[in-house]
Amino acid sequence: MSDIKYYSTNLKAEKVSFSEALLKGLAPDGGLYMPEQIPRFSKDEIASFSKKEYHEIAFFVLQKFLGETIPSTELAGMTKQAYNFDVPLEKVYDNKYVMRLDQGPTASFKDFAARMMGQLMQYFLKQEHRNMLILTATSGDTGSAMANAFYGLRNINIAVLFPENEVTPRQRKQMTTLHENVQILSLDGKFDDCQALVKQAFNDPELDYLNLSSANSINIGRLLPQSVYYIYAYSRLCDIEKGDEIVFSVPSGNFGDLMGGLLAMKMGLPVKKFVVSTNANDEVPVYFATGNYKTIVPSENCISSAMNVGHPSNMARIVALYGGIMNADGEILKKPDLEKMKEDMFATSVDDSITRETIKRVYDRHKVILEPHGAVGWEGLRQFMNCEKPTENQVCVSLETAHPAKFPEEVELATGIDPELPVSLSKLDDKEEQFDKLESGYENFKIYLKSKYGA
Ligand SMILES: *Cc1c(COP(=O)(O)O)cnc(C)c1O
Repeated sequence: MSDIKYYSTNLKAEKVSFSEALLKGLAPDGGLYMPEQIPRFSKDEIASFSKKEYHEIAFFVLQKFLGETIPSTELAGMTKQAYNFDVPLEKVYDNKYVMRLDQGPTASFKDFAARMMGQLMQYFLKQEHRNMLILTATSGDTGSAMANAFYGLRNINIAVLFPENEVTPRQRKQMTTLHENVQILSLDGKFDDCQALVKQAFNDPELDYLNLSSANSINIGRLLPQSVYYIYAYSRLCDIEKGDEIVFSVPSGNFGDLMGGLLAMKMGLPVKKFVVSTNANDEVPVYFATGNYKTIVPSENCISSAMNVGHPSNMARIVALYGGIMNADGEILKKPDLEKMKEDMFATSVDDSITRETIKRVYDRHKVILEPHGAVGWEGLRQFMNCEKPTENQVCVSLETAHPAKFPEEVELATGIDPELPVSLSKLDDKEEQFDKLESGYENFKIYLKSKYGA
């Protein structure tokens, strides 16, 4: 299967190998790379995962996509190094779980993708004797996860652009205290503005010399690793011999997390339903309900700040997965099979007041602490269960995408508890911050990049 090619969702660029798709990020026609074929697991393979550790499942999944591109022993070493932390499945009640994807070095689920991607990029860059500048926009967690994953790597510099007023001080410190090959930039604007600047830089021939790559959820190198925890959860909670199916609820912003889940399903994982839970940025739930997709500009500011996205870039991929075409502006050029999408996914939106109520209710009833993103996921799951009434013993897993200690004000407001900091975060307070403020407008961004990274 090593010759799986990657096509662009805009269908106007050449198909490329995995390493090219990984190192390019965005396709030259502005589209996102998608695998031309999706490898399938046999039933026996899925059954065998129950005896494998997380990093072994990750190895297995990646090798399905990569074939012999990376020698087995090296790939196994890379997954082992990337996944050296726990993935707790915390029981809330009956067969309803929260999967805590917050035990990595930046206490965000983005560590899962970032750490693997750092390893993969370094491997291919070394092979090709090349250097690269990673340029990424973040609403908080991507940037810190990427900055940490790439910090100290050779052949790679990373510049991270964040919206000044949309990240918490702790999220900011996770990026601004690293230095070395990590450059941090703040913009007086929204996440979407940051993302627009990054996209423009990618399409600017004058910046070709920088050998830019993205590390946003648009990069295919982030999606493949994000399919693994779905498979892992199934392996721990379900039995394929018994025909078990699983429900996942995914708190969604740019829809990379969900795309990973959809890939796992296409690989053969028996998923009954994905609950797609958004905050007040409800363009996708509205699309499911009405068939009309309308981006939200500017995006709504919600307490689940990493999901304040008015037009998720991965929508183009999801639409492609269901036979349609969506361009970068969110226009649907060819309709996907919306009925099939609704069979696979239940989409709903949860506003801030319900998010806060959910944090409180889940703590009061079950003594489980959620932060705003995880609470959006949990509430989406509750709505799905109310609406579609699965059997009582249906296994359901809601993803908790950040550590509650990253959102101490909201958690304390709802539960009265100031969540304890994981070690990775507690060390930040004494470190010195360093970042540059960017004036708005693309020209300023370009001038900055040229001066910083030599024209
Ligand atoms: C990025 C992020 C999300 C949303 O993930 P997407 O892949 O963009 O949908 C949810 N929660 C947290 C904490 C995040 O950092």
